[in-house]
Amino acid sequence: MTETFSLVVVAAGQGSRMGGATAKQFLPLAGRPIWEWSALSGGQLFSDNRIGECVFVVPAGTEDMVRESLRPFSFPRTVVAGGKERSQSVFNGVESAKGDFVLIHDGARPFASPPLFKRVMDASSPDHGVVPLVPVSEALKRVDHGRVTPYQREGLFLTQTPQCFPRGALEEALAACGRGAKDEGEAWCSHGGKLVSVEGERRNMKITWPEDLSLAECFMSKTFRTGLGYDVHPLVPGRMLVLGGVTIPEFPLGVLGHSDGDPVVHALCDALLGAAGLGDIGMLYPAGDEAYKGIKSLSLLEDTARRVYALGWDLEWADGILVAQEPRLASHLPSMREAMNGSLPAAWRGRLSLKVKSGEGEGNVGQCCSMVSHAVVTLSAPAWVAREAGEKEGPGR
Ligand code: MG
Repeated sequence: MTETFSLVVVAAGQGSRMGGATAKQFLPLAGRPIWEWSALSGGQLFSDNRIGECVFVVPAGTEDMVRESLRPFSFPRTVVAGGKERSQSVFNGVESAKGDFVLIHDGARPFASPPLFKRVMDASSPDHGVVPLVPVSEALKRVDHGRVTPYQREGLFLTQTPQCFPRGALEEALAACGRGAKDEGEAWCSHGGKLVSVEGERRNMKITWPEDLSLAECFMSKTFRTGLGYDVHPLVPGRMLVLGGVTIPEFPLGVLGHSDGDPVVHALCDALLGAAGLGDIGMLYPAGDEAYKGIKSLSLLEDTARRVYALGWDLEWADGILVAQEPRLASHLPSMREAMNGSLPAAWRGRLSLKVKSGEGEGNVGQCCSMVSHAVVTLSAPAWVAREAGEKEGPGR
C-alpha cells in the first residue's frame, strides 16, 4: 500500500511583526488572502493524487470564514482552530490529520512550488523528518549589547516549509516538546528524531514584515488572458424565458435548450473557460448527459467559475451583450447582474457588466425566432500561476 500524505497549512498566527489589525495571512496578495495561495499549491498536488487531505489551522473564530473561502476548491479538507503558540497550532493540525505522513506548511509562504512539495515527499521516510534548506548568502554579524562582531556563515542554512514527518511520531515529539520550538524540525530533533534536508527555493519567502508584502506583490506581476463567448438559442412557445439567471414573466416564447437554455449565462461561461484555456461548456457539460437536462444555467456558471478560480485566476472584468427583439429587457438588467454575481466566487462579485440591444427587426433575432448573446472576459494571474495552470489545462479538471 502506498503511503498517504496530509498537508497541514498553519495560518493561525496573529502576525504581530506585520502591524495592523488584520492577521497577516488574511491580508490580500494578488486578489486573494495570503494563506489561500497555499491552498492553491495544495489543489495542484491533489490533482496528482499525492495528497489525500488538507488541514487548515486558522485563528479561533475564523473557521467559518475560511471554510467559505475554500468552497471553490474541490479537495477534501478540514478547518481547525489553532492555539496561542505556533507549536499548539501545529499540534492541533497534526492531531486532525489522518495521513501516514504530515507535510507542515506555513500559510505565510505563498510561493512554495509543487515541485518543492514533491521533493519533500519523495525524501520522506518513517525513520526521519525532511526539511527544505537554502544556504545563507549574506555575510552574518552578531550583535551583543551593541557590540558587532563577524559571524561565520559556513555550514549555516535557512529552514523553510513544507516540512514532512511521520504523523504519529511528530505528534509525540510535539506533545513532549511543549511550547517554544521555532519549527517542527526543532521539536523533532529535541525528541531525538533524525532530520534530512532537500534543496529549498529562493522564491519560497516567508511574509513577516510589511516590506515583505511589497516584495511579494512584485513577484506577483500579472499575466492577462481574454476569452470570448457566444451563444444562440431558438425562441419557441411552451418554454420559460430565462435570461441572465432571471425568469422573465409574461412572454409567450421561451428559449429552447437542453438546460434552461439561458444564452447570457452560456456565453459568460464560454468566455471564462476560453480565457482559462479549459475548453467550452459543451465539453464540460455535454448536452447528451442526462445529468444536465433542465439544469439551471446558473449552476453551470457556479461550477465553471469555481474551476477557473481554483486554478489561480482572478476575474478582472466580464462584459456581455444580449441581442433580443422582444420583450424590452433593460429593466431586468440589475436583477440579471445580481443573479449572475451570486454564482461567482465572493471575490469576483461586482465585476460584471451586461447590456441589451434590440434586433432592429433584422434576421432571425429581429423576427423574434432566436436570441443571441456575446461575452468577453479578462482574467489575470501571477505569471508563474498562469504557467502552471497552462500545463494543467484541459476539460477533465
Ligand atoms: Mg447555450
